[in-house]
Amino acid sequence: MKTLRLILGDQLNSKHSWYKSKNEDVTYSIFEMKQETDYVTHHIQKIVGFFSAMRDFSKWLQDEGHNVVYFNLDDKKNTQHLTENIQLLIKEKKISKFEYQLPDEYRLDKQLTSFCEETSIESKVYCTEHFYTKRRDLNDFFKGKKQFLMENFYRVIRKKHDILIIGNQPEGGKWNFDKSNRNKWNEKDKIPPIKNFENPISDILELLNKENIKTIGHIKDKSFSYPINRSQALEQLKYFCEYLLVHFGDYQDAMHTEQAFLFHSRLSFALNIKAISPKDIVTTVLNYWRKHGEYINISQVEGFIRQIIGWREYMRGMYWHLMPDYKNLNYLENNNKLPDFFWTGNTKMNCLSKAINNSLDNGYAHHIQRLMVTGNYALLTQINPDQIDAWYLGIYVDAIEWVQLPNTRGMSQFADGGKIATKPYVSSGSYINKMGNYCSNCSYNVKEKVTDNACPFNSLYWNFLDDKRDYLQDNFRMKMMYSLLNKMKPEDLHKIKIKAKDIIENPNKY
Ligand code: FAD
Ligand code: SF4
Repeated sequence: MKTLRLILGDQLNSKHSWYKSKNEDVTYSIFEMKQETDYVTHHIQKIVGFFSAMRDFSKWLQDEGHNVVYFNLDDKKNTQHLTENIQLLIKEKKISKFEYQLPDEYRLDKQLTSFCEETSIESKVYCTEHFYTKRRDLNDFFKGKKQFLMENFYRVIRKKHDILIIGNQPEGGKWNFDKSNRNKWNEKDKIPPIKNFENPISDILELLNKENIKTIGHIKDKSFSYPINRSQALEQLKYFCEYLLVHFGDYQDAMHTEQAFLFHSRLSFALNIKAISPKDIVTTVLNYWRKHGEYINISQVEGFIRQIIGWREYMRGMYWHLMPDYKNLNYLENNNKLPDFFWTGNTKMNCLSKAINNSLDNGYAHHIQRLMVTGNYALLTQINPDQIDAWYLGIYVDAIEWVQLPNTRGMSQFADGGKIATKPYVSSGSYINKMGNYCSNCSYNVKEKVTDNACPFNSLYWNFLDDKRDYLQDNFRMKMMYSLLNKMKPEDLHKIKIKAKDIIENPNKY
Protein backbone atom coordinates (compact mmCIF):
# COMPACT_ATOMS: atom_id res chain seq x y z
CA MET A 1 0.00 0.00 0.00
CA LYS A 2 1.57 3.31 -1.08
CA THR A 3 1.71 5.65 1.88
CA LEU A 4 2.38 9.37 2.09
CA ARG A 5 3.69 10.65 5.43
CA LEU A 6 3.68 14.33 6.28
CA ILE A 7 6.40 15.98 8.37
CA LEU A 8 5.60 19.50 9.54
CA GLY A 9 8.39 22.06 10.07
CA ASP A 10 8.26 21.60 13.85
CA GLN A 11 8.25 17.79 13.71
CA LEU A 12 11.93 17.17 13.00
CA ASN A 13 12.33 14.35 15.49
CA SER A 14 14.97 11.99 14.08
CA LYS A 15 14.30 9.52 16.93
CA HIS A 16 10.65 9.03 15.95
CA SER A 17 9.67 5.37 15.48
CA TRP A 18 8.65 6.15 11.87
CA TYR A 19 12.29 6.15 10.86
CA LYS A 20 13.33 2.89 12.54
CA SER A 21 12.70 0.90 9.37
CA LYS A 22 12.77 1.68 5.68
CA ASN A 23 9.88 0.95 3.38
CA GLU A 24 9.96 1.50 -0.39
CA ASP A 25 6.21 2.17 -0.34
CA VAL A 26 6.48 5.06 2.09
CA THR A 27 7.17 8.61 0.89
CA TYR A 28 7.90 11.40 3.35
CA SER A 29 6.84 14.92 2.44
CA ILE A 30 8.12 18.25 3.75
CA PHE A 31 6.89 21.58 2.38
CA GLU A 32 8.15 25.16 2.58
CA MET A 33 4.92 27.15 2.06
CA LYS A 34 3.63 30.71 1.96
CA GLN A 35 0.76 29.47 4.11
CA GLU A 36 3.38 29.30 6.88
CA THR A 37 5.62 32.24 5.99
CA ASP A 38 2.65 34.63 5.75
CA TYR A 39 0.11 33.80 8.52
CA VAL A 40 1.93 36.33 10.71
CA THR A 41 4.95 38.54 9.95
CA HIS A 42 7.88 36.48 11.20
CA HIS A 43 11.40 37.45 12.19
CA ILE A 44 13.81 36.80 9.32
CA GLN A 45 15.82 34.45 11.57
CA LYS A 46 12.73 32.45 12.39
CA ILE A 47 11.97 31.66 8.74
CA VAL A 48 15.58 30.90 7.81
CA GLY A 49 15.88 28.77 10.97
CA PHE A 50 12.85 26.69 10.07
CA PHE A 51 13.80 26.28 6.42
CA SER A 52 17.43 25.34 7.25
CA ALA A 53 16.27 22.80 9.82
CA MET A 54 13.70 21.32 7.41
CA ARG A 55 16.26 21.07 4.60
CA ASP A 56 18.78 19.51 6.95
CA PHE A 57 16.21 16.98 8.15
CA SER A 58 15.22 16.11 4.59
CA LYS A 59 18.86 15.46 3.72
CA TRP A 60 19.26 13.28 6.80
CA LEU A 61 16.19 11.24 5.85
CA GLN A 62 17.48 10.74 2.31
CA ASP A 63 20.93 9.76 3.59
CA GLU A 64 19.19 7.18 5.78
CA GLY A 65 17.63 5.71 2.64
CA HIS A 66 14.04 7.01 2.94
CA ASN A 67 12.00 8.41 0.03
CA VAL A 68 11.49 12.12 0.47
CA VAL A 69 9.62 14.78 -1.49
CA TYR A 70 10.77 18.25 -0.44
CA PHE A 71 9.09 21.36 -1.86
CA ASN A 72 11.20 24.49 -1.83
CA LEU A 73 9.22 27.71 -1.53
CA ASP A 74 9.73 28.48 -5.21
CA ASP A 75 9.15 24.95 -6.49
CA LYS A 76 6.88 25.13 -9.53
CA LYS A 77 4.58 22.42 -8.21
CA ASN A 78 4.26 24.02 -4.79
CA THR A 79 0.66 25.21 -4.26
CA GLN A 80 1.83 27.08 -1.09
CA HIS A 81 -1.03 25.41 0.76
CA LEU A 82 -0.66 22.38 3.03
CA THR A 83 -3.60 20.21 2.08
CA GLU A 84 -3.40 21.11 -1.61
CA ASN A 85 0.21 19.95 -1.66
CA ILE A 86 -0.82 16.70 0.03
CA GLN A 87 -3.65 16.24 -2.47
CA LEU A 88 -1.26 16.85 -5.35
CA LEU A 89 1.17 14.16 -4.15
CA ILE A 90 -1.62 11.68 -3.45
CA LYS A 91 -2.68 11.98 -7.08
CA GLU A 92 0.79 12.08 -8.58
CA LYS A 93 2.16 9.13 -6.61
CA LYS A 94 -1.07 7.09 -6.55
CA ILE A 95 -1.10 7.09 -2.78
CA SER A 96 -3.67 5.01 -0.94
CA LYS A 97 -2.86 5.94 2.68
CA PHE A 98 -2.04 9.28 4.32
CA GLU A 99 -0.27 9.48 7.69
CA TYR A 100 0.76 12.43 9.84
CA GLN A 101 1.86 13.27 13.37
CA LEU A 102 -0.40 15.22 15.73
CA PRO A 103 0.23 18.93 15.09
CA ASP A 104 0.85 20.97 18.22
CA GLU A 105 -0.83 24.00 16.74
CA TYR A 106 -4.63 24.21 16.71
CA ARG A 107 -4.74 25.85 13.27
CA LEU A 108 -2.84 23.00 11.59
CA ASP A 109 -4.67 20.35 13.55
CA LYS A 110 -8.02 21.67 12.24
CA GLN A 111 -6.69 21.83 8.71
CA LEU A 112 -5.47 18.23 8.75
CA THR A 113 -8.50 16.84 10.59
CA SER A 114 -10.83 18.39 8.00
CA PHE A 115 -8.67 17.06 5.20
CA CYS A 116 -8.78 13.53 6.59
CA GLU A 117 -12.56 13.70 7.02
CA GLU A 118 -12.98 14.73 3.43
CA THR A 119 -10.41 12.61 1.63
CA SER A 120 -11.45 9.30 0.17
CA ILE A 121 -8.20 7.53 1.13
CA GLU A 122 -7.38 5.93 4.46
CA SER A 123 -5.58 8.12 7.00
CA LYS A 124 -3.83 7.65 10.33
CA VAL A 125 -2.45 10.02 12.92
CA TYR A 126 0.57 9.31 15.17
CA CYS A 127 1.96 10.80 18.35
CA THR A 128 5.02 13.05 17.84
CA GLU A 129 6.84 11.08 20.60
CA HIS A 130 8.29 14.30 21.97
CA PHE A 131 6.54 15.50 25.13
CA TYR A 132 6.31 13.89 28.56
CA THR A 133 2.56 14.48 28.61
CA LYS A 134 -0.24 13.91 26.14
CA ARG A 135 -2.09 16.80 24.57
CA ARG A 136 -5.24 16.32 26.62
CA ASP A 137 -3.69 15.12 29.90
CA LEU A 138 -4.50 18.41 31.61
CA ASN A 139 -8.23 17.95 31.02
CA ASP A 140 -8.21 15.03 33.47
CA PHE A 141 -5.60 16.55 35.71
CA PHE A 142 -7.58 19.72 36.43
CA LYS A 143 -11.07 18.20 36.21
CA GLY A 144 -13.37 19.81 38.79
CA LYS A 145 -10.64 22.22 39.97
CA LYS A 146 -11.07 25.99 39.87
CA GLN A 147 -7.40 26.84 39.63
CA PHE A 148 -4.94 25.28 37.25
CA LEU A 149 -1.72 25.77 39.20
CA MET A 150 1.53 24.92 37.40
CA GLU A 151 3.16 23.95 40.70
CA ASN A 152 0.67 21.13 41.34
CA PHE A 153 1.13 19.83 37.83
CA TYR A 154 4.92 20.03 38.11
CA ARG A 155 5.01 17.95 41.29
CA VAL A 156 2.88 15.23 39.74
CA ILE A 157 5.16 15.06 36.68
CA ARG A 158 8.25 14.89 38.89
CA LYS A 159 6.79 11.99 40.82
CA LYS A 160 5.44 10.19 37.79
CA HIS A 161 8.79 10.29 35.99
CA ASP A 162 10.93 9.98 39.10
CA ILE A 163 12.81 13.22 38.49
CA LEU A 164 14.66 14.65 41.51
CA ILE A 165 12.62 12.41 43.81
CA ILE A 166 13.89 10.37 46.75
CA GLY A 167 11.36 8.09 48.43
CA ASN A 168 8.36 10.05 47.10
CA GLN A 169 9.83 13.30 48.47
CA PRO A 170 11.63 16.09 46.57
CA GLU A 171 15.40 15.73 46.44
CA GLY A 172 17.10 18.53 48.38
CA GLY A 173 14.06 18.82 50.69
CA LYS A 174 12.13 21.35 48.59
CA TRP A 175 9.97 21.11 45.47
CA ASN A 176 10.96 24.51 44.29
CA PHE A 177 14.10 26.61 44.69
CA ASP A 178 12.47 29.62 43.03
CA LYS A 179 13.60 31.94 45.83
CA SER A 180 17.27 31.29 44.95
CA ASN A 181 16.54 32.08 41.30
CA ARG A 182 16.07 35.80 41.73
CA ASN A 183 19.51 37.41 41.80
CA LYS A 184 20.81 40.38 39.91
CA TRP A 185 23.83 39.28 37.85
CA ASN A 186 26.98 39.59 39.87
CA GLU A 187 29.56 40.46 37.22
CA LYS A 188 32.17 38.40 39.05
CA ASP A 189 30.49 35.22 37.81
CA LYS A 190 31.87 35.34 34.29
CA ILE A 191 29.56 34.46 31.43
CA PRO A 192 31.28 32.14 28.96
CA PRO A 193 31.29 33.05 25.25
CA ILE A 194 28.07 32.41 23.34
CA LYS A 195 28.11 29.14 21.46
CA ASN A 196 27.09 29.96 17.91
CA PHE A 197 26.44 27.53 15.07
CA GLU A 198 27.24 28.80 11.63
CA ASN A 199 24.43 27.28 9.62
CA PRO A 200 24.74 28.75 6.11
CA ILE A 201 21.60 30.46 4.88
CA SER A 202 22.55 32.62 1.87
CA ASP A 203 20.39 30.61 -0.53
CA ILE A 204 17.37 30.86 1.79
CA LEU A 205 17.85 34.60 2.15
CA GLU A 206 17.94 34.94 -1.63
CA LEU A 207 14.81 32.83 -1.93
CA LEU A 208 12.88 34.93 0.60
CA ASN A 209 13.96 38.05 -1.19
CA LYS A 210 12.94 36.68 -4.57
CA GLU A 211 9.54 35.57 -3.26
CA ASN A 212 8.95 38.93 -1.51
CA ILE A 213 8.39 37.40 1.90
CA LYS A 214 7.76 40.13 4.44
CA THR A 215 9.86 39.76 7.59
CA ILE A 216 10.96 41.70 10.66
CA GLY A 217 14.30 41.90 12.45
CA HIS A 218 17.85 41.45 11.27
CA ILE A 219 20.29 38.69 10.47
CA LYS A 220 24.06 39.05 10.65
CA ASP A 221 26.90 37.09 9.07
CA LYS A 222 24.64 35.19 6.68
CA SER A 223 24.30 32.30 9.13
CA PHE A 224 21.75 31.00 11.61
CA SER A 225 23.32 30.65 15.03
CA TYR A 226 20.91 28.39 16.97
CA PRO A 227 21.10 24.58 16.72
CA ILE A 228 19.01 23.18 13.86
CA ASN A 229 19.41 19.41 14.22
CA ARG A 230 19.92 16.74 16.83
CA SER A 231 23.71 16.71 16.80
CA GLN A 232 23.94 20.51 17.12
CA ALA A 233 21.30 20.49 19.86
CA LEU A 234 23.25 17.84 21.80
CA GLU A 235 26.39 19.95 21.41
CA GLN A 236 24.55 23.00 22.72
CA LEU A 237 23.19 20.97 25.63
CA LYS A 238 26.70 19.72 26.50
CA TYR A 239 27.94 23.31 26.44
CA PHE A 240 25.06 24.35 28.67
CA CYS A 241 25.87 21.62 31.21
CA GLU A 242 29.60 22.38 31.22
CA TYR A 243 29.51 26.17 31.35
CA LEU A 244 26.07 27.61 32.03
CA LEU A 245 24.17 25.27 34.35
CA VAL A 246 26.40 26.26 37.25
CA HIS A 247 24.66 29.66 37.45
CA PHE A 248 21.45 29.06 35.49
CA GLY A 249 19.16 29.24 38.51
CA ASP A 250 21.05 32.06 40.22
CA TYR A 251 20.56 34.47 37.32
CA GLN A 252 17.42 33.09 35.72
CA ASP A 253 15.57 36.37 36.31
CA ALA A 254 18.51 38.74 35.86
CA MET A 255 18.82 41.31 33.08
CA HIS A 256 21.86 43.13 31.75
CA THR A 257 22.48 45.77 29.08
CA GLU A 258 25.47 43.94 27.57
CA GLN A 259 24.33 40.35 27.99
CA ALA A 260 21.48 39.14 25.80
CA PHE A 261 21.71 35.50 26.92
CA LEU A 262 23.34 35.45 30.38
CA PHE A 263 23.25 31.80 31.56
CA HIS A 264 20.24 30.77 29.46
CA SER A 265 20.44 27.62 27.38
CA ARG A 266 19.33 28.90 23.92
CA LEU A 267 17.72 25.51 23.39
CA SER A 268 14.14 26.64 22.75
CA PHE A 269 14.32 26.63 18.93
CA ALA A 270 15.82 23.12 18.82
CA LEU A 271 13.30 21.89 21.38
CA ASN A 272 10.31 23.40 19.63
CA ILE A 273 11.22 21.90 16.25
CA LYS A 274 11.68 18.63 18.20
CA ALA A 275 15.31 18.18 17.13
CA ILE A 276 15.88 17.27 20.76
CA SER A 277 13.40 15.98 23.32
CA PRO A 278 12.67 17.23 26.83
CA LYS A 279 13.66 13.77 28.06
CA ASP A 280 17.09 14.06 26.36
CA ILE A 281 17.58 17.37 28.13
CA VAL A 282 16.43 16.29 31.58
CA THR A 283 18.43 13.05 31.49
CA THR A 284 21.61 14.74 30.28
CA VAL A 285 21.37 17.55 32.84
CA LEU A 286 20.70 15.13 35.70
CA ASN A 287 23.56 12.82 34.67
CA TYR A 288 25.94 15.74 34.39
CA TRP A 289 24.93 17.04 37.78
CA ARG A 290 25.25 13.62 39.45
CA LYS A 291 28.86 13.52 38.23
CA HIS A 292 29.71 17.15 39.01
CA GLY A 293 27.44 17.84 41.96
CA GLU A 294 30.28 19.17 44.05
CA TYR A 295 30.26 22.49 42.19
CA ILE A 296 26.66 22.72 40.95
CA ASN A 297 23.95 23.39 43.48
CA ILE A 298 20.60 21.59 43.23
CA SER A 299 18.87 24.99 42.93
CA GLN A 300 20.41 25.45 39.46
CA VAL A 301 19.30 22.02 38.32
CA GLU A 302 15.78 22.18 39.75
CA GLY A 303 15.33 25.71 38.37
CA PHE A 304 16.17 24.46 34.88
CA ILE A 305 14.21 21.23 35.00
CA ARG A 306 11.14 23.15 36.23
CA GLN A 307 11.15 25.14 32.99
CA ILE A 308 11.26 22.02 30.85
CA ILE A 309 8.94 19.55 32.58
CA GLY A 310 6.93 22.18 34.45
CA TRP A 311 6.29 25.33 32.46
CA ARG A 312 6.76 23.96 28.97
CA GLU A 313 4.54 20.88 29.38
CA TYR A 314 2.00 22.86 31.41
CA MET A 315 1.70 25.59 28.77
CA ARG A 316 1.07 23.00 26.10
CA GLY A 317 -1.56 21.30 28.25
CA MET A 318 -3.28 24.61 28.98
CA TYR A 319 -3.27 25.52 25.29
CA TRP A 320 -5.06 22.32 24.34
CA HIS A 321 -7.34 22.51 27.36
CA LEU A 322 -8.49 26.05 26.57
CA MET A 323 -8.39 26.42 22.79
CA PRO A 324 -10.05 27.65 20.60
CA ASP A 325 -11.80 30.18 22.88
CA TYR A 326 -8.51 31.09 24.55
CA LYS A 327 -7.30 33.01 21.50
CA ASN A 328 -10.08 35.59 21.85
CA LEU A 329 -9.94 36.28 25.58
CA ASN A 330 -9.51 39.89 26.66
CA TYR A 331 -10.54 39.83 30.32
CA LEU A 332 -9.17 43.29 31.10
CA GLU A 333 -10.78 44.78 27.98
CA ASN A 334 -7.54 46.32 26.76
CA ASN A 335 -7.77 47.95 23.36
CA ASN A 336 -4.81 50.27 22.82
CA LYS A 337 -2.48 49.98 19.85
CA LEU A 338 1.02 48.52 20.08
CA PRO A 339 3.50 51.43 19.76
CA ASP A 340 5.65 51.69 16.64
CA PHE A 341 8.83 51.34 18.68
CA PHE A 342 8.10 47.64 19.20
CA TRP A 343 9.08 47.23 15.54
CA THR A 344 12.14 49.51 15.63
CA GLY A 345 13.49 49.48 19.18
CA ASN A 346 13.57 53.24 18.94
CA THR A 347 12.63 54.45 22.44
CA LYS A 348 14.43 56.33 25.19
CA MET A 349 13.29 53.79 27.79
CA ASN A 350 16.51 51.83 28.09
CA CYS A 351 15.00 48.55 29.33
CA LEU A 352 12.55 48.47 26.41
CA SER A 353 15.14 49.58 23.91
CA LYS A 354 17.50 46.77 24.99
CA ALA A 355 14.82 44.06 25.15
CA ILE A 356 13.34 45.02 21.77
CA ASN A 357 16.71 45.46 20.07
CA ASN A 358 17.84 42.06 21.41
CA SER A 359 14.67 40.62 19.90
CA LEU A 360 15.18 42.33 16.55
CA ASP A 361 18.88 41.38 16.40
CA ASN A 362 18.66 37.81 17.67
CA GLY A 363 15.03 36.64 17.37
CA TYR A 364 15.51 36.09 21.09
CA ALA A 365 14.87 37.69 24.45
CA HIS A 366 15.07 35.74 27.67
CA HIS A 367 12.07 35.05 29.82
CA ILE A 368 12.25 38.05 32.13
CA GLN A 369 12.73 40.49 29.27
CA ARG A 370 9.63 39.01 27.60
CA LEU A 371 7.61 39.03 30.81
CA MET A 372 8.75 42.00 32.88
CA VAL A 373 9.91 44.46 30.23
CA THR A 374 7.98 44.18 26.94
CA GLY A 375 5.04 42.25 28.43
CA ASN A 376 4.86 44.46 31.50
CA TYR A 377 4.88 47.64 29.40
CA ALA A 378 2.22 46.26 27.02
CA LEU A 379 -0.06 45.35 29.90
CA LEU A 380 0.45 48.61 31.78
CA THR A 381 -0.34 50.58 28.62
CA GLN A 382 -3.38 48.37 28.07
CA ILE A 383 -2.58 47.15 24.56
CA ASN A 384 -5.02 44.90 22.77
CA PRO A 385 -3.89 41.27 23.29
CA ASP A 386 -4.38 40.40 19.60
CA GLN A 387 -1.66 42.89 18.69
CA ILE A 388 0.61 41.63 21.43
CA ASP A 389 0.14 38.03 20.32
CA ALA A 390 0.98 38.91 16.73
CA TRP A 391 4.19 40.60 17.87
CA TYR A 392 5.32 37.74 20.13
CA LEU A 393 4.36 35.09 17.58
CA GLY A 394 6.36 36.85 14.89
CA ILE A 395 9.46 38.04 16.64
CA TYR A 396 10.95 35.01 18.42
CA VAL A 397 12.65 32.11 16.65
CA ASP A 398 11.01 29.77 19.18
CA ALA A 399 7.50 31.18 18.78
CA ILE A 400 4.95 28.53 17.89
CA GLU A 401 1.38 29.24 18.91
CA TRP A 402 0.96 26.40 21.45
CA VAL A 403 3.75 27.87 23.60
CA GLN A 404 3.56 31.56 22.63
CA LEU A 405 -0.16 32.06 23.23
CA PRO A 406 -0.51 30.83 26.83
CA ASN A 407 2.70 32.65 27.74
CA THR A 408 1.59 35.91 26.17
CA ARG A 409 -2.16 36.10 26.55
CA GLY A 410 -2.18 34.16 29.80
CA MET A 411 0.97 34.57 31.82
CA SER A 412 2.01 37.97 30.55
CA GLN A 413 -1.25 39.80 29.74
CA PHE A 414 -3.73 38.25 32.22
CA ALA A 415 -6.22 38.28 29.34
CA ASP A 416 -7.60 34.94 30.58
CA GLY A 417 -8.58 36.47 33.93
CA GLY A 418 -6.14 34.31 35.87
CA LYS A 419 -6.25 30.81 34.45
CA ILE A 420 -2.46 30.65 34.09
CA ALA A 421 -1.11 33.42 36.34
CA THR A 422 -2.70 33.96 39.73
CA LYS A 423 -2.13 37.72 39.38
CA PRO A 424 -1.00 40.07 36.61
CA TYR A 425 2.77 40.28 36.13
CA VAL A 426 3.03 44.06 36.40
CA SER A 427 5.63 46.17 38.15
CA SER A 428 6.88 49.69 38.44
CA GLY A 429 10.46 50.57 37.47
CA SER A 430 11.77 49.36 40.83
CA TYR A 431 11.55 45.66 39.88
CA ILE A 432 13.40 46.30 36.62
CA ASN A 433 16.01 48.26 38.56
CA LYS A 434 16.33 45.47 41.12
CA MET A 435 16.94 42.77 38.52
CA GLY A 436 19.26 44.56 36.10
CA ASN A 437 21.43 47.54 35.23
CA TYR A 438 19.19 49.20 32.64
CA CYS A 439 18.12 52.09 34.86
CA SER A 440 21.62 53.38 35.52
CA ASN A 441 22.01 54.14 31.79
CA CYS A 442 18.49 55.40 31.12
CA SER A 443 17.21 58.86 30.19
CA TYR A 444 14.62 58.43 32.93
CA ASN A 445 14.90 58.41 36.68
CA VAL A 446 13.59 55.21 38.19
CA LYS A 447 12.88 56.92 41.52
CA GLU A 448 10.60 59.59 40.05
CA LYS A 449 6.88 59.24 39.34
CA VAL A 450 5.58 62.38 37.67
CA THR A 451 8.47 64.69 36.79
CA ASP A 452 9.50 65.20 33.17
CA ASN A 453 12.26 62.61 33.47
CA ALA A 454 10.28 60.18 35.66
CA CYS A 455 10.45 56.49 34.75
CA PRO A 456 7.27 55.83 32.73
CA PHE A 457 6.73 52.46 34.40
CA ASN A 458 6.05 54.20 37.72
CA SER A 459 3.00 56.24 36.77
CA LEU A 460 1.80 53.52 34.41
CA TYR A 461 1.82 51.00 37.25
CA TRP A 462 -0.43 52.95 39.63
CA ASN A 463 -2.63 54.11 36.80
CA PHE A 464 -3.12 50.49 35.72
CA LEU A 465 -4.14 49.40 39.20
CA ASP A 466 -6.58 52.28 39.42
CA ASP A 467 -8.04 51.72 35.93
CA LYS A 468 -8.48 47.98 36.52
CA ARG A 469 -9.92 48.09 40.04
CA ASP A 470 -13.13 46.36 39.04
CA TYR A 471 -11.23 43.39 37.69
CA LEU A 472 -8.41 43.07 40.19
CA GLN A 473 -9.08 44.53 43.61
CA ASP A 474 -10.67 41.34 44.95
CA ASN A 475 -7.71 39.24 43.86
CA PHE A 476 -6.12 38.01 47.08
CA ARG A 477 -2.59 38.45 45.73
CA MET A 478 -3.29 42.10 44.81
CA LYS A 479 -4.65 43.11 48.20
CA MET A 480 -1.44 44.71 49.42
CA MET A 481 -1.00 46.82 46.27
CA TYR A 482 -4.60 48.01 46.44
CA SER A 483 -4.24 48.93 50.08
CA LEU A 484 -1.20 51.09 49.13
CA LEU A 485 -3.14 52.62 46.25
CA ASN A 486 -6.07 53.37 48.54
CA LYS A 487 -3.76 55.21 50.90
CA MET A 488 -2.46 57.47 48.14
CA LYS A 489 -3.59 61.11 48.33
CA PRO A 490 -6.18 61.83 45.59
CA GLU A 491 -4.13 64.78 44.29
CA ASP A 492 -1.05 62.55 43.95
CA LEU A 493 -3.01 59.91 42.11
CA HIS A 494 -4.47 62.60 39.88
CA LYS A 495 -0.98 63.75 38.85
CA ILE A 496 0.09 60.16 38.24
CA LYS A 497 -2.91 59.55 36.03
CA ILE A 498 -2.26 62.65 33.95
CA LYS A 499 1.32 61.50 33.40
CA ALA A 500 0.26 57.94 32.55
CA LYS A 501 -2.38 59.19 30.12
CA ASP A 502 0.29 61.18 28.27
CA ILE A 503 2.55 58.11 28.02
CA ILE A 504 -0.31 55.94 26.78
CA GLU A 505 -1.47 58.49 24.24
CA ASN A 506 2.01 59.41 23.00
CA PRO A 507 4.11 56.27 23.46
CA ASN A 508 6.61 57.14 20.76
CA LYS A 509 7.48 60.40 22.53
CA TYR A 510 9.08 58.48 25.41
P1 FAD B 1 16.05 28.88 29.14
O1 FAD B 1 15.87 30.04 30.05
O2 FAD B 1 17.39 28.28 29.03
O3 FAD B 1 15.00 27.77 29.60
C1 FAD B 1 15.12 26.40 29.16
C2 FAD B 1 13.88 25.96 28.42
O4 FAD B 1 12.76 25.96 29.28
C3 FAD B 1 13.49 26.83 27.24
O5 FAD B 1 14.25 26.50 26.09
C4 FAD B 1 12.02 26.50 27.09
O6 FAD B 1 11.84 25.37 26.26
C5 FAD B 1 11.59 26.15 28.51
N1 FAD B 1 10.82 27.24 29.08
C6 FAD B 1 11.22 28.17 29.96
N2 FAD B 1 10.20 28.98 30.32
C7 FAD B 1 9.13 28.54 29.63
C8 FAD B 1 7.77 28.96 29.56
N3 FAD B 1 7.29 29.98 30.28
N4 FAD B 1 6.96 28.30 28.72
C9 FAD B 1 7.40 27.26 27.99
N5 FAD B 1 8.67 26.83 28.03
C10 FAD B 1 9.51 27.45 28.84
N6 FAD B 1 8.96 30.07 24.86
C11 FAD B 1 8.92 29.46 23.66
O7 FAD B 1 9.52 28.39 23.49
N7 FAD B 1 8.22 30.00 22.62
C12 FAD B 1 7.54 31.17 22.75
O8 FAD B 1 6.92 31.63 21.81
C13 FAD B 1 7.57 31.84 23.99
N8 FAD B 1 6.92 33.01 24.17
C14 FAD B 1 6.96 33.63 25.38
C15 FAD B 1 6.23 34.82 25.55
C16 FAD B 1 6.23 35.45 26.78
C17 FAD B 1 5.43 36.71 26.97
C18 FAD B 1 6.96 34.88 27.85
C19 FAD B 1 6.94 35.55 29.18
C20 FAD B 1 7.67 33.72 27.69
C21 FAD B 1 7.68 33.06 26.47
N9 FAD B 1 8.39 31.86 26.27
C22 FAD B 1 8.32 31.24 25.06
C23 FAD B 1 9.12 31.21 27.37
C24 FAD B 1 10.61 31.60 27.49
O9 FAD B 1 10.74 32.98 27.47
C25 FAD B 1 11.45 30.98 26.39
O10 FAD B 1 11.19 29.60 26.31
C26 FAD B 1 12.95 31.15 26.67
O11 FAD B 1 13.25 32.51 26.80
C27 FAD B 1 13.78 30.50 25.58
O12 FAD B 1 15.14 30.72 25.78
P2 FAD B 1 16.14 29.59 26.32
O13 FAD B 1 16.01 28.38 25.48
O14 FAD B 1 17.48 30.20 26.44
O15 FAD B 1 15.47 29.29 27.71
FE1 SF4 C 1 13.20 51.18 32.22
FE2 SF4 C 1 12.37 53.08 33.89
FE3 SF4 C 1 14.64 51.83 34.36
FE4 SF4 C 1 14.44 53.53 32.29
S1 SF4 C 1 14.28 54.03 34.46
S2 SF4 C 1 15.38 51.50 32.29
S3 SF4 C 1 12.34 53.16 31.65
S4 SF4 C 1 12.62 50.91 34.35
